[in-house]
Amino acid sequence: MVKPVILTVDDDPEVLGAIERDLRQHYRSDYRILKAGSGREALEAARQLKQRGTAVALFLVDERMPEMTGTEFLREVLRLYPESRRVLLTAYADTQAAISGINEVGLDHYLLKPWDPPAERLYPVLDDLLSDWTAHVRLPYEGIRVAGARSSPRSFAVKEFLSSNQVPYHWIDVDQDLPTRELISSFGDATRLPVVLFPDGSRLVAPTNRELAEKIGMQTRARLPFYDLVIVGGGPAGLAAAVYGASEGLRTVLVEQSAPGGQAGTSSRIENYLGFPSGVSGADLARRATTQARRFGAEVIAQGAVALRREDPYRVVRLADGTDVSCYAVVLATGVSVRMLEVSGVEPLLGIGAYYGAAMTEAATYRDQDVCIVGAGNSAGQGALFFSRYARRVTMLVRADSLGKSMSQYLIDRIMATPNIEVVTRVEVTAVRGTGRLEKVAICRLPEREERELDAAAMFIFIGARPRTEMVAGLLELDEQGYVLTGPALSPSGQRPRNWTLDRDPLPFETSVPGVFAAGDVRAGSSKRVAAAVGEGSGAIGVVHSYLETV
Ligand SMILES: Cc1cc2nc3c(=O)[nH]c(=O)nc-3n(C[C@H](O)[C@H](O)[C@H](O)COP(=O)(O)OP(=O)(O)OC[C@H]3O[C@@H](n4cnc5c(N)ncnc54)[C@H](O)[C@@H]3O)c2cc1C
Repeated sequence: MVKPVILTVDDDPEVLGAIERDLRQHYRSDYRILKAGSGREALEAARQLKQRGTAVALFLVDERMPEMTGTEFLREVLRLYPESRRVLLTAYADTQAAISGINEVGLDHYLLKPWDPPAERLYPVLDDLLSDWTAHVRLPYEGIRVAGARSSPRSFAVKEFLSSNQVPYHWIDVDQDLPTRELISSFGDATRLPVVLFPDGSRLVAPTNRELAEKIGMQTRARLPFYDLVIVGGGPAGLAAAVYGASEGLRTVLVEQSAPGGQAGTSSRIENYLGFPSGVSGADLARRATTQARRFGAEVIAQGAVALRREDPYRVVRLADGTDVSCYAVVLATGVSVRMLEVSGVEPLLGIGAYYGAAMTEAATYRDQDVCIVGAGNSAGQGALFFSRYARRVTMLVRADSLGKSMSQYLIDRIMATPNIEVVTRVEVTAVRGTGRLEKVAICRLPEREERELDAAAMFIFIGARPRTEMVAGLLELDEQGYVLTGPALSPSGQRPRNWTLDRDPLPFETSVPGVFAAGDVRAGSSKRVAAAVGEGSGAIGVVHSYLETV
């Protein structure tokens, strides 16, 4: 644990040296003793300590200093450290200054110079103040701190990125924490949020996922010039492909733009995955699978892939930073992304009240408030059960006349048995309203289209999905909904795909470009289940081996 600091300030180097020596002698085992020769220097040091998340227990400050008096310094620094104990060092003649210090900055004590012998005149006073401070202070978190606001969508995105990559952090709402707001204002533009503060004293302001990934030491570049296999997408299908590919000796790299786990990683509890009789959280499954893939030697790159091209016999994947990764074979496991709710008011409230998917990081934010779930699939059901543990009331807004058409019975039973979940059927969301946060959800009854408004602090949207195929648009053959066609589905009436030059049919999982395979939810005809995606990802590797024998 980092020791809390005692900071002493005096413009007289001799006095400063003497007090530092006496402080060290008595307190060095429990505190870090720092000194500064002026109020300005001390203020800068205090800002840096705050940025690193270091606690300051005590300021011991000379009153009579040029430029900035001790009282003036304390007035400034207490905005950053309101709980620190404050002691002024005064000469006999400064009693009046000490008294005004008590009134202006809540001085805890004033010490008359000289303080010899310290065992009698210094330590008893400071011991008392420090034990009082220790009893009342909550020591700051020493890891990554995200200082942001509920009204800042980027703050939400940063929290999501860190939590889905299982990076621990401490959230600070700057609207509630004035010292942190003060610190952020001292950096310049206090409206650019969040500010991510790192234990080494550095910071990132409103960072992108890639900047964050680099800073926290995630791999963002390929290590080898060439791979046997590049997997795009780190959901269950991609992770399974990585485990099987790497374990079977293929030089394998997996490229994931947000966090390993994909949709499954956002599930609060997967209950139908083989081998986990009491369920497994998506985050846990993702962490285990990623560790397993890495253990077999697969690289996992935190970056998006933006394009794919063929340079026979090679395949080249272009990453978001403009670099290329070359290989013999590609497994496309990019899954699906949620379908957008196209009603007025959603867009400006995204991340600050309106969310696609479960947004589990926000559950505590909506404790004891009313929230809505839009949708009636299994993911909506899981979301409703998850938020019912926090929210006062969860209202499920369902277009159909029952949940039975789209949700598994075990989830329906659980929802019906949860008193704070209400299911409203035959309704459609028509608008959402709110300034800086979600306040109302407008719904209309079907088929009459009679409108009414619900009060809600948050709305979680689960209304289906569309395949993520932007990076292969124009290259691979897709079905009418945009899913990637593979194997026999490419030749429904016997003829081979356009531009297919090989003297064989496409293999199972192989797309209309030889050597490019698709697995999981993105593939036309797939089952849209975790176990199915895992099966497809591992099954595709068997076919990749057959392909590699021919190149
Ligand atoms: C909330 C929720 C709960 C669910 N619960 C269950 C359940 O209980 N049981 C069950 O069987 N199924 C469940 N499902 C469905 C299941 O999660 C999916 O079928 C499964 O995750 C599909 O896996 P996938 O690997 O094919 O795709 P995805 O899980 O969609 O993963 C695709 C990955 O590819 C990444 N990606 C996309 N494009 C790019 C790119 N260009 N570059 C880099 N990376 C990219 C994405 O970021 C994502 O991580 C649930 C789904 C959701 C949303």
